[in-house]
Amino acid sequence: MNPKDYYSRQLRLPEVGEEGQLRLKNARCLVIGAGGLGSPALLYLAAAGVETLGVCDGDRLDISNLHRQPLYSAADIGKSKAELAVDRITHLNPMVKATAYPFFLNAHNAFLLFSSYDLILDCTDNFKTKFLINDAAYLAKKPVVRASIYQFEGQLQTYLPGRGDACLRCLWEKVPQEGCVGTCQEVGVLGTVPGFFGVLQANEAIKFFLEMPVLGPNQVLFSDLIHYAQHTITLERRENCPLCGKEPSIHALTDRHSWEITPAELDESFTLIDIREAEEIKSDPYLKAPYRHMPMSGFDLSQLNPALKYALFCQRGRRSASLVSSLLAQMSNVYSVVGGIEALR
Ligand SMILES: [Zn+2]
Repeated sequence: MNPKDYYSRQLRLPEVGEEGQLRLKNARCLVIGAGGLGSPALLYLAAAGVETLGVCDGDRLDISNLHRQPLYSAADIGKSKAELAVDRITHLNPMVKATAYPFFLNAHNAFLLFSSYDLILDCTDNFKTKFLINDAAYLAKKPVVRASIYQFEGQLQTYLPGRGDACLRCLWEKVPQEGCVGTCQEVGVLGTVPGFFGVLQANEAIKFFLEMPVLGPNQVLFSDLIHYAQHTITLERRENCPLCGKEPSIHALTDRHSWEITPAELDESFTLIDIREAEEIKSDPYLKAPYRHMPMSGFDLSQLNPALKYALFCQRGRRSASLVSSLLAQMSNVYSVVGGIEALR
């Protein structure tokens, strides 16, 4: 395949040309989250000739993903999204050398993954991972293009540590509770909204590699896709930020909340509660230690004894994390089992 043919339309741009195309070829970009944002971002990065791409996502394709993740096909439900994404983008552009990381980013693997890339795209949809990316990027001095969406709106930021940009912890010292802003699953989303912002992330990344202007220091671009209203706000870097401030208290990564517990840490002092729905339990029962059922849809805190400790689990630990983080204001002795029933087995 002749790159001059493949990239001919963008090679004509004076901002690209052969020199720019070479920059893109040598650029290394890690996309974390191959979902609604990652889907278009990966397609456009690969097509533009960003030839070293990493795709980190531990999820498997679910039928409910397809309406906003057109990178995938209905025939591939159940398969690893990272592996499917790599397969798809190398078909789109065979010159791309893409690597699948079919697991979730965590405090143990973040630095190692980041070390092989020049730019990180945060295409995730939860605060915990966004803060982990934020902390790892600051500590490893890696630039990040992050986006997040909520219903018909979204925001975009290009964080360049070399510019001294404000970090997420300049805004929020602690990771906000999941669920304080609804996820796609809870509040719903139209596929075009993450699609639009994922394209903007790829656009920022391509401009970054071409050394063209990107969003300015501390600028966050907001777009409302109902009225096409757009505005930019400027974040303030905080001197007492626990990460990038003058006397930081965060020197290492953590991706655990105090209310999360791993199966290895569970002992007989905990009462296990399966919060999966009745039909899920019927098809995939958990038959080990004594435990209770209380489905998330009808979870009743008054049924719990405040003197006891409870470890809640679901299939993979996501619903239990969201439920526990929402219960903490009322009860502190509830924990979420990391990895859910799949880790307990
Ligand atoms: Zn900060």
